[in-house]
Amino acid sequence: MIVGIDLGTTNSLIGIIEKGRPRLFQTSEGTSLLPSVVYFPGDPAQSPVVGTPAVEMKVSFPERVIYSAKRFIGRGISDVKDWQKLLPYDFSGSSEQMVRFTVGDKSYTPMEIGALVLKHLKTLAEQELGTEVKKAVITVPAYFNDAQRQATKFAGELAGLEVARIVNEPTAACLAYGLDKKTEGVVAVFDLGGGTFDISILRVSGGVFEVLATNGDTALGGDDFDHALASHLAPLIHQATGFDPMQSASSKASFLSACEKAKRELSDQTEIVFSWNHDAIVFEHRLTRGDFDEAIYPFLKRALLPCVQCLEDSKVSTSTITDVILVGGSTRVPRVRAFVKEIFGREPICTLNPDEVVAIGAAVQANILSGHTQGMLLLDVIPLSLGIKTMGGVVSKIIHRNSTLPISATEHYSTYLDGQVAVDIHVLQGERELSKDNRSLARFQLKIPPLPAGVPKIEVEFIVDANGILSIRAMELRTGQTASVTVNPSYGLTDTEVESMLMASFENAETDFNQRFLIEAQMEAESLVRATQKSLLQGSHLLDPDQKAEIESAIRRIEKVLPTQEREEIKKACERLSQATEKFAQDLLNHAVKEALSNREI
Ligand code: ADP
Ligand code: MG
Repeated sequence: MIVGIDLGTTNSLIGIIEKGRPRLFQTSEGTSLLPSVVYFPGDPAQSPVVGTPAVEMKVSFPERVIYSAKRFIGRGISDVKDWQKLLPYDFSGSSEQMVRFTVGDKSYTPMEIGALVLKHLKTLAEQELGTEVKKAVITVPAYFNDAQRQATKFAGELAGLEVARIVNEPTAACLAYGLDKKTEGVVAVFDLGGGTFDISILRVSGGVFEVLATNGDTALGGDDFDHALASHLAPLIHQATGFDPMQSASSKASFLSACEKAKRELSDQTEIVFSWNHDAIVFEHRLTRGDFDEAIYPFLKRALLPCVQCLEDSKVSTSTITDVILVGGSTRVPRVRAFVKEIFGREPICTLNPDEVVAIGAAVQANILSGHTQGMLLLDVIPLSLGIKTMGGVVSKIIHRNSTLPISATEHYSTYLDGQVAVDIHVLQGERELSKDNRSLARFQLKIPPLPAGVPKIEVEFIVDANGILSIRAMELRTGQTASVTVNPSYGLTDTEVESMLMASFENAETDFNQRFLIEAQMEAESLVRATQKSLLQGSHLLDPDQKAEIESAIRRIEKVLPTQEREEIKKACERLSQATEKFAQDLLNHAVKEALSNREI
C-alpha cells in the first residue's frame, strides 16, 4: 500500500483511496489538516510536539515553535533574508547552503522539521489502518527546484518512508478532479496556500494529464495576508494603546494569530470586529472586507505576472481554457476568487475542499503506482531549464524548461587549453543567460588525459527522472576512456552531515526503544511483586522462616530499584525474586492441586 501526502507549508494531510473513494486520516483534533508546526519542549528528554498542540505553544514559547519550514527547504540563508525579520525563531546557525533553526542548544534543518511532520502523519495513518505504512507519494509545489525536491525526498526518508514519487501539487489537484469527471480540455490550477503560489496549465484528455506549463512564486501566500493585515492594524494599536504589538516575539505571535482568525472570518462576513487581548492590552476595531482586500491587494497583484507568463509558456489563450481549479486555503478569500475570475475570464470550480484537493490527488497517484487504477498516465514538465557553465560564465542549456518528464539530454564540449587534465562542470538551473544569475545546483570535476585544446570530446548527459530529480554523467569519448561522476545531492549537506542526521534518527529510535523496555520491565516487576504478596497471604504456612525472609528481602530489593530507571537492575531483582519463590510456587501449586482433588470424588 502507498499513501498520498500533501506536505504543506501551513498544513499537511495524508490519505489513501479506498474502494475508489478518497479517505483522509484525521488528527486527534478530528480534522484532516495537521498544522506543519513543531514545538521543541525545553526539557530535551521530551519528544517534539507536532500539529495543533504545537501551534498553541507559539504564544508562550515563540522561539521554540518552528512553522513555515517548507519555505526554507533546500534553500540557503541568502534566499530567505527578508523572512528572518518576520519570523520569531532563531536563524543563527544557517549557512549559504542551508537554513537552520536554532532552538535551545540544538539546531534543526527544514528537512528534519519536515521529517517530524511526515512521521506524525505516518503514525496517524498507521493508527487508523492498524498496519505499518512504508511507502508514500509526496507532493511539492510545481516551481520547486531540484534542491527542494531532493530535500523533500530526504525528509521522507528521515521519517522512515520510501518516497515512491514526488508529484507536483497542481498535477495532484487535477488528478483529484479527474476522479469524478474525465474532462477533455485545458485546465488552469490556481493554488494559493499559506506560503507558496503556483499556477499551472494542464491538458487533460482521456484520463491523461499533461502539464503544459507551470509558474509561480515560492514566497507568496496566506501568511502574507496575515502580515498585510498586521501592518494595517499595528499602527492603529500603537496609536490607541501606546503598545507596539510587533515589539516582542510573544506579542507578535499572538497578534499574527488574531490577524489570521480575522482573515478567515472575513471570508464569510463582510464586516467583523477585530479583537486582540494580550497581557493588559485590549484592542477592538471594526474591520470591513474592503479594508482587508485593500491591505492584501499588493500581494495578490504579485500573482498576476506568473499567470501571464504561464499562459504564454503553455501557448494557450484564456479562451481555450475549459476549467479553472482553485486549490489552497487562501482561495477561500472572496477577493482571490474574483481575481482569478478576472484573469481567466471564467468562474473557477471548487467543488472539492480547496485544502484537501492536493492530498486527494496524492492518494490517487499513490493508487495508480500501487497498480489499483488503470488507464491513467501522468506527464509532468520541468519547471526551470538546466545547463552547465561554459567559457566566459555563459550558460549552455541542456534541458529546456517545460520539457516533459522523464527526460535525458546530451551535449558535447571540449577544452580550451592545451594539456588540460580536468574540466570543471558547474550545473546551473534557471532561465538567465549568465551563470551568476542562475541557481548553482552542483559542481564536479572530470579528469581527462592531457591533449591539445579542442581535441577532447566531453559528453555531458543530464537525466531527470519522473520525480523531477536530476543526475548528471560526464565522460571523455575521444580516447575511449570514460569517467563518470556522481553528483552529490544538492540540498547543501555534506555526506557527514547526512550521515549524522540519519544516525540521529536511529539514535532517537534507540532512546524510544530503551524507554519502552524500561516501562515494560517496571510493569513486569510491579505485577510480580503483587502476585507474590498475594501468594504470601494465601500460603505463608507452607514456607520455612529462611525462605520467607529471602522472599521478603527480594521484594524490598525490587521496591528499591524500581524508581532508579535502571532496567538491568530491575530485571536482576525480578530474577532474584523469581528464584526465591520457585520452590514456594511449586508448593503452592501442589497444595492447590491436592485441595482441588480432595474436594472431588473420583
Ligand atoms: P499550504 O498548502 O501552504 O499548507 P493551505 O492550503 O492549507 O496551505 O492554506 C493555508 C492558508 O489558508 C493559511 O494562510 C490560512 O490562513 C488560509 N486559510 C484557511 N482557511 C481560510 C479562510 N476561510 N479564509 C482565508 N484564508 C484561509
Ligand atoms: Mg498546499
